[in-house]
Amino acid sequence: MERVYNFSAGPSALPEEVLKQAAEEMLNYQGSGMSVMEMSHRSPVYDKIIKETEENLRKLMNIPENYAVLFLQGGASLQFSMVPINLLTRDKKAAYIDTGVWSTKAIKEAQKIGETLILASSRDKKYSYIPEVQNIPQDIEYLHITTNNTIYGTRYTSLPKTDAAIVADASSNILSEPVDINKFGIYYAGAQKNLGPAGVTIVIIRKDLIGREPENTPTMLAYKTHAEKNSLFNTPPCYNIYMVGLVLKWLQKQGGVEAIYQRNLEKASIIYDFLDNSELFTTMAEKKDRSIMNVVFFLPTEELTKKFLDEAAKNGLVNLKGHRDIGGLRASIYNAMPVEGVKKLVEFMKKFEKENRR
Ligand SMILES: *Cc1c(COP(=O)(O)O)cnc(C)c1O
Repeated sequence: MERVYNFSAGPSALPEEVLKQAAEEMLNYQGSGMSVMEMSHRSPVYDKIIKETEENLRKLMNIPENYAVLFLQGGASLQFSMVPINLLTRDKKAAYIDTGVWSTKAIKEAQKIGETLILASSRDKKYSYIPEVQNIPQDIEYLHITTNNTIYGTRYTSLPKTDAAIVADASSNILSEPVDINKFGIYYAGAQKNLGPAGVTIVIIRKDLIGREPENTPTMLAYKTHAEKNSLFNTPPCYNIYMVGLVLKWLQKQGGVEAIYQRNLEKASIIYDFLDNSELFTTMAEKKDRSIMNVVFFLPTEELTKKFLDEAAKNGLVNLKGHRDIGGLRASIYNAMPVEGVKKLVEFMKKFEKENRR
């Protein structure tokens, strides 16, 4: 079977070049005589891989010296716990904005640790927009947001105004658009959408937020543990970090974040322009808050939705089923999805509309 255009929300498509390079280096990484999977995380060869990966991420995102970059495990989901465990210490408060399932999960973990304010929610309209927040309290330790809402196809285009540290779950849009990291206290993302295979989580954290955890915090759950040892306190997810490194080099070759952002805008507008003019397909997310990573759309009946998925798959366009919470269809078009894949999808949608319009 040929490779398909894979619109999966996560784990998702990786650049073909990256997979080929990984395959080439699988048995013998750069003359070391072994696979990256087989080498000691304390060897000089591996040390170079993890250091280069961090340096390249710092360059691509302009991460200043007063931020640490950590490579952790446990996914974005462990960050839902680690953030409050480290920052929401006794008598303190944290604030959250609820923009969907992932935010809700983050809120639930914070509530186990300390006083958690929910400042706004878009639940009233099935999370189809990013809610405005006024009057953010002064006495909060941090404000948590989800910068891109993978399930509903919404994203933040401007940040809430607060002096508190903004903690962002950027799992589904890290490196898809330029961000000023100085505006965040913590910026975290599981790798499996835009960065590499599942298994490593990137945590970019302002250094003054490290070391605030209570004394009885389990060692592995304290940011300090990992920051002090440059993510080598214990065995890190070595191979995944290597893969992230390859993806970052690929991204540099594409021209960096600004260039990929322009390409992402182009890809998103190809689909949204078609959807906005369609007499068959509908959308849900408010236009001003539309994600450029996850495009959510619908057909009028379950029957047509099923037919669409079947026929799309026969045309090499796969994983277009919407999340089970809202149904419908979703095209995830992360950095690695080429423009041609999106064009092919829209051509297919046009044909489908012609054949199925009443
Ligand atoms: C996928 C996703 C998660 C879950 O990540 P895990 O790495 O599986 O824990 C969390 N937040 C967002 C925004 C996501 O898209």
